[in-house]
Amino acid sequence: MSGIVSRRVAFCPSVALRYPAMLRWNRIAAPFRCCGERIGVLSLPPTLPTVKLQTNIFLWVTLATTFPLALLVLGATLYSERQYEETVTAEVNGRLVILIAEIDRRLYYQRQMMRSLASDDAARAFYPVLRAATAGELHPEFFTRAGRLTRFLESLQSVVPGFGTLRVVDFNANTLIKVHIGRGAITLQEGIESLPFAEEEPNDPDFARRLAQLPDGEVSFITLPDDRLEGAGEAFRPPALLTAVLPLEEEGERLGYLMGDLSGDPIDHLLETSPRLLTGDLIIAEINPENPVRHGLVLYDDASGSRLSAPDAEPIEIQSRWPVLLEAVEKRPYGMLQVDGGRRRLFYQEYLPYPGRLVSWVVAMTVESESLRAPFNRIRMAGMLFVLVAVVLGLLLARMGSRSVARPIRELATTMEAYGAGDHSARVEERGGEEIRTLAHAFNHMADTLDHAQRVMVENAKLASLGEMAAGIGHELNNPLNNILSLVRLMERQMPEDADRLRRDLEAIRDESLRASRIIRSVLNFARQVPPEVRPFELDPWLEETAGLLLQAARDRQVELARVGERREGCVVEGDRSQLQQALVNLLLNAIQATPAGGRVELSLRCDEEWVELRVRDFGSGIAPDAEGRLFDPFFTTKGEGEGAGLGLSISLGIVERHRGTLTVHNHPEGGVEAVIRLPRHAADGA
Ligand code: ADP
Repeated sequence: MSGIVSRRVAFCPSVALRYPAMLRWNRIAAPFRCCGERIGVLSLPPTLPTVKLQTNIFLWVTLATTFPLALLVLGATLYSERQYEETVTAEVNGRLVILIAEIDRRLYYQRQMMRSLASDDAARAFYPVLRAATAGELHPEFFTRAGRLTRFLESLQSVVPGFGTLRVVDFNANTLIKVHIGRGAITLQEGIESLPFAEEEPNDPDFARRLAQLPDGEVSFITLPDDRLEGAGEAFRPPALLTAVLPLEEEGERLGYLMGDLSGDPIDHLLETSPRLLTGDLIIAEINPENPVRHGLVLYDDASGSRLSAPDAEPIEIQSRWPVLLEAVEKRPYGMLQVDGGRRRLFYQEYLPYPGRLVSWVVAMTVESESLRAPFNRIRMAGMLFVLVAVVLGLLLARMGSRSVARPIRELATTMEAYGAGDHSARVEERGGEEIRTLAHAFNHMADTLDHAQRVMVENAKLASLGEMAAGIGHELNNPLNNILSLVRLMERQMPEDADRLRRDLEAIRDESLRASRIIRSVLNFARQVPPEVRPFELDPWLEETAGLLLQAARDRQVELARVGERREGCVVEGDRSQLQQALVNLLLNAIQATPAGGRVELSLRCDEEWVELRVRDFGSGIAPDAEGRLFDPFFTTKGEGEGAGLGLSISLGIVERHRGTLTVHNHPEGGVEAVIRLPRHAADGA
């Protein structure tokens, strides 16, 4: 709290406030001095040192809110990113599983088709031809039956998708029938040696031996010798799919084989239409460690456009693209790898497409790492940007806030310095925040109080010295005056009876002497300045009594003296009854003297818990403007000779102030003068 702690403010012509006298860590305390003696301390709220503190608090609040927020954003995005990655992994793996199941279903379907073909009547009718061919003979119905079977196989092309070339081969691996399903062309049969083979090929006992080892009644998958492959020899490119072979048997005797090159169309279609995730690519490669030509061969690839049905002219090896993949598959049949320098993730699963063969496919899907991270990076960036903006704004606000607090405080400090240096008109503008306004108000109030105290002290000092002088003169004059009066009385007694004129002169001397004596008494009264004898007394009867003292004077001047306002019985005041009466008499006398004949003087009383107010109101000509500032000056009077000594108001003021009250005399706006005595009801301690 701010305030002034005052000890004693009496008879001191100047008050000095030194600033900053003390500036402790949490408060400003400036003692003010009078004649070198410390008479009080001005204490101000602990605001100055807290300006910096406020800035710091503002900063800390900003940091304390933005940093957890930033951590929250980072944590939340990191967590969501993990969750998202897990979801994507599960999704991609799920798709791979479904895809592999679909491929398997199609391959199974083709195996079933091979079996159905082999047991068809058209095929069975060809069995005797096969038997004859195996023995190196030409069956009499070779051409008829071969033609029927060929047409039958040909007619399949519109209903059975998935086969490329179908062959019927005798036990020695000579091709008797060869049909390009889907291309509508039947190879012309050319006679080689005694048999009309469909393909010109060397007798390949190796191949015949490999075929002979295939299990009965099952569709097996083999690699055809290069010389049986379409286009082999030029830019050699092995076909994507192995050739399906089903042994043809009758009564436990193997007669030949039905061979089908799978075209891969239905699987291509399946792979093409299966949805990709996050701009990823699908790729299938063969793992075939027994055959270096096929090991790592890319069968299907979104990136290069390679298809099972239409392989790339140049074979691509998966090892050259992702060297780690085959190794990884060897260790674990499914998983995920970071490839292409971390730009992509490769999800893979191994699949065994051919029953009875250790050839497998690795079916893999790539996902762009960036497409996984991008949304979260954007959120992170936005979060960081937000934090940055918040911190910058926080700093700006902290600066603005501290400035708006610091500026008025600086102004206050400057004003206090000016005040301390003697500029008693220095005041601070009361603006800014509530605390600052309170501070400015406290200072202004203090300055006003000090100014007033100084004025009162100067007044008191003047009065005191005047009083001393007046008392001296009074005492000096009293003795000669008394002598004059005694002499006058003596002379009157000794004067002859007929000396009328002399007697009148002596009376005049006595009257003037008495008048001078009265003046001297009031001067001595004024100079005496006795402290009040404080006792409680009831105000209402006291007021009646005081008014009664002046009834005669009022009547002489034909002035009505009236009590106005409500009567307050039981309003008791602590004070010097007779001194206060003297003060009130002076005011009433002034009012009566100022009121023209037939006029009226009003006396009223207000009383509350703390204060009493006595008002004397007249309707005379009021106070002349040039007299206004000097009313309370001792010996100031505007009255004619014999009417006043100019001490009434100064005596009254002295009495009222000794009771810690106030006295004001001012012109009333509606004419005349209003004099107000305001007294505390309870005498202060030590009064
Ligand atoms: P005095 O009455 O002896 O002149 P005061 O100190 O009582 O001395 O008054 C000083 C002066 O104040 C008066 O001379 C007069 O000019 C002015 N004054 C005081 N009371 C009144 C009043 N009620 N109406 C007009 N002037 C007044």
